[in-house]
Amino acid sequence: MNYIILDLEWNQPIGRGGMITEPVPLNGEIIRIGAVRTNDACELVDSFQICVRPKFYKRINRAVEKVTGLDSAALSFGRPFAAAYQSFLRFCGDDPVFITWGTEDEKVLRANLAVHGMDDSTLPPFYDLQVIFSHRVTHDSRQYGVSAAVEHYGLPLDLKAHDALNDATYTYRIAREMGLARYIPAEYGKVLAEVEEERRIQRELRFYRTYTGIESVEAGIRSKKIITCRCPECKTKLRRTYFVFISERKAIAFAECPEDGEYLVTIKFSQVPNGTFDVTRSFTVPSPQQRAEYREVIDRYIEEMKAKKQAEQSEQEDDPLKI
Ligand SMILES: [Zn+2]
Repeated sequence: MNYIILDLEWNQPIGRGGMITEPVPLNGEIIRIGAVRTNDACELVDSFQICVRPKFYKRINRAVEKVTGLDSAALSFGRPFAAAYQSFLRFCGDDPVFITWGTEDEKVLRANLAVHGMDDSTLPPFYDLQVIFSHRVTHDSRQYGVSAAVEHYGLPLDLKAHDALNDATYTYRIAREMGLARYIPAEYGKVLAEVEEERRIQRELRFYRTYTGIESVEAGIRSKKIITCRCPECKTKLRRTYFVFISERKAIAFAECPEDGEYLVTIKFSQVPNGTFDVTRSFTVPSPQQRAEYREVIDRYIEEMKAKKQAEQSEQEDDPLKI
């Protein structure tokens, strides 16, 4: 196996209006590719760097300029993307796997291939060394920068950072300390499964909130802060149905996020010794069964409300004093 430890530098659009969105959003246009190749024993075999001339974002974004030290003039040198990428692939050799620090490089590379109408289905597998580091070395799930990981191993920070080849070299040094073969490919699936499980737990915690000191059930169901629903994923204010009580102390509603889909929102009241209520509000993704069952309950309630309103109106119309 050829381990290709890869780092990309990319330019960003200037302002939101300048962003390429078709066929995919192009958050970054690649301007430098840096990589080192190692053998199975993680010995450095060869290194590679190339300047890529941007086609879309030719003026340097100020934030990128600050980090990389490159200016717009520096971007006008370099090979067109397709040619640069071909020579990078030649460097990779047979049976490569790509190793990056974080997942951004993969996303950016795929988007760049897409905007140049190039196929990304033949890309080798990507492995994120950062997630392995934080789950198998530091065990704290934090997102470490390359330099923090370099410091963790007491390695010298002797190269200028935010240069593609230098960052790839730093990543290689970290990889050498970690021992790539221990984790890639076999252990990687386990690491990702752990990450997914952590996310699931965090998501459930975030989806759950308690309010205390609520005077009564009636006060709770009228409290703006309790019944105003924001998407637990993206915080958008959600459109929702009425809250309908399905038991004395439990009310439900459906709420919909355009991005993240439909939630079943449940509010539960429990009375505490001082007479007030603790209210918990949770967001879950309804099962098809819950959906059908509760939808019916809520629709019936809405019908009843409508009928009641109509009855009140016609009563008012019948009332001679109102005229
Ligand atoms: Zn959302």
